[in-house]
Amino acid sequence: MGYAEVISLSEVRASKQWASLRHQLHDRFDQWLDRLEAQLPEPETTLAQITETVWNLRQELTGSLTESLVEHAHQVELTRKEIVCATCDRLLAARPAVSRTVDTMVGAVQLERPYFYCRHCHQGQSPLDEALGLTPGRKQLDVQQAAAQVVVEMPYDEAHTLFGDLTGVTIGSERMHTLTNQVAQGLTVLDVAPSRQEIERRIASVAAGRFRRPVLVLGIDGAYVPTRPENARGRRPGQGRYRAKRPRWTGQWREAKGLRFYLMDGERIVHVLSWHQVQTEAELGEALQQIKDAGLIPEEQVRLCVVCDGASWIWKHIQTLFPHARQVLDYYHCAAYLHKVAKAQYGDSVQALEWVEATLTRLYLGKAGAVLGGLKRLHAPSEEAAKAVANCWAYLHAHRGRTHYQKLRRGGYPLGSGGIESSNKFICHTRLKRSGAWWYEGNSNQMLALRCAKYNGTFNQVFARHQQRLREA
Ligand SMILES: [Zn+2]
Repeated sequence: MGYAEVISLSEVRASKQWASLRHQLHDRFDQWLDRLEAQLPEPETTLAQITETVWNLRQELTGSLTESLVEHAHQVELTRKEIVCATCDRLLAARPAVSRTVDTMVGAVQLERPYFYCRHCHQGQSPLDEALGLTPGRKQLDVQQAAAQVVVEMPYDEAHTLFGDLTGVTIGSERMHTLTNQVAQGLTVLDVAPSRQEIERRIASVAAGRFRRPVLVLGIDGAYVPTRPENARGRRPGQGRYRAKRPRWTGQWREAKGLRFYLMDGERIVHVLSWHQVQTEAELGEALQQIKDAGLIPEEQVRLCVVCDGASWIWKHIQTLFPHARQVLDYYHCAAYLHKVAKAQYGDSVQALEWVEATLTRLYLGKAGAVLGGLKRLHAPSEEAAKAVANCWAYLHAHRGRTHYQKLRRGGYPLGSGGIESSNKFICHTRLKRSGAWWYEGNSNQMLALRCAKYNGTFNQVFARHQQRLREA
């Protein structure tokens, strides 16, 4: 017997199996056609009426086709007569099949599978579930992941309705909430960060065809988000007859401190990594440290630059972790200080405008020394003006080394912290600042972590982690 003959035998077997599967699928389709026939409207109908009928029945078809495909692919597990108990090594005989229905994006899938129970270890199991990679509970991972994508964009009630309308899969808003908690629990910056390889790929795409290494900007800033205290739990002032009463707790605006790495590609920004949380300065520093320790940032492939508004805690972290990074003081923040001086000094006059314009020009040309000298020479007409001048002088003096704006501009560095401000907006504000929404700190941080994952391009990675954790539990 030649080798070729063996192959052709297996080919025959494969084609026979495929033929039998096709047959089963056709049977399922026929059954579905019966149901369709019963529900189809009168012959003269609009397209909308027809599509509505097909839409309502479509998951019955795709779900039942899936059942046949599962049966075909897992015949071994479906007809299994015995297994060995994983704990005590006893041989266990199959008990009568137990039915389980799971919800997927293509509809409900019913599984009749053998069940094994060890009386000594008091453990039951269905090997098919494991072979299929099922998750506990009825809603399977594809549904969970799709629902999470909607939830990170809009309030739970809205997400529930929209998701049901567009997918035909029902998942309650409470369930969506629980699911979000489970998926996002314990997420750290490294869980939502792209891999070093992926970051290098983004850098290479910006670097292509350019002589100089691309500028990678690190922006750090805070965004105010509405939070509610933990003691608001359990009280439901928004419900039932209490609706009209004011809640007995007071909401608080707290700072979500965030960091964002992004690449400058001409006028375009290429996002790399965001991490925003309601957290302390020290915690943000730790997150930066983790990024550094994990070696995610290929510092030798980029010109690293940090742009901030001047808060001293930020520079402290930078000095330790990225001592070679180019430091930039937000130009527009500087401008705000100068405007304050002008107003205090000259009021709302033409002179005020002229002074600001001339001073900003000097600053822009990198002449911070001249600006400082000019401030020193001002004769303040009031105590208030003297204070504004002194403030501005101290601020500029402390950061004078970070104000070489003309040089920075020529090097392709950003002058302002617009990059982090925009990430404050699209990650924090868009979802957290909704009318009437006040977030528990834990929930807000979970939502922020998921939104970071979305924009970092690591949503799948977060779900792989979730699946892994379910498996281990
Ligand atoms: Zn056992």
